[in-house]
Amino acid sequence: MDEQVPLSIAIVPVTPFAQNCSIVMCNATHDAVVIDAGGDVPTLMKQIREMGAQVRALWLTHGHVDHASGAPELADALQTEYGLDVPMPIIGPHEADQYWIDDLAARARVYGFSGNARSFVPTRYLQDGDVLHIGTETVQVLHCPGHTPGHVVFYHANMRLAWVGDVLFAGSIGRTDFPGGNHADLINAIKSKLLPLGDDVQFISGHGPMSNFGQERRFNPYLV
Ligand SMILES: [Zn+2]
Ligand SMILES: [Zn+2]
Repeated sequence: MDEQVPLSIAIVPVTPFAQNCSIVMCNATHDAVVIDAGGDVPTLMKQIREMGAQVRALWLTHGHVDHASGAPELADALQTEYGLDVPMPIIGPHEADQYWIDDLAARARVYGFSGNARSFVPTRYLQDGDVLHIGTETVQVLHCPGHTPGHVVFYHANMRLAWVGDVLFAGSIGRTDFPGGNHADLINAIKSKLLPLGDDVQFISGHGPMSNFGQERRFNPYLV
């Protein structure tokens, strides 16, 4: 753990889609969130314990099965682990993705996910401009529809780091051929909300390696 940086981040690929789940811990307090707990809950629990993280909430970028279907199971496991009287909060995505969340159990079966996926209603939906916290750190919420209508991005200005889910990838962008997808909305969200954050901002995608907005602005074939 590096005391010079405010957050420790463990990226754990989960589900048959190797979705990048992030466990993000405030180094000052050890308060943590889990972003996109798509599945493989035992693996996530092991990593959370190894970090000494105290998870306070589960955050979701969007309602697709590889990002959201492990959230209720992980919430239950953490509630038991910590002996909480109230459920572990599930925060996000935007309400427009509820139709995907309603479909999680069926999708998880189709794709052969392990675990016991079920639909749920998040503790709180997110909107553009919302502000969230991890211990002492502040994270901004950006609504970036297109891949799904309710997709949100988490931006930590202090570390110049964003979690973009399936909006943007190194050298590619999210699919828009699913029900509710919209290519023009996606390009607009990337160009009007993400790229203006700055070329130096690094991002963690739902799949594949990290990159930064400058690299994508200059070389991503969907954006140039
Ligand atoms: Zn997706
Ligand atoms: Zn995905």
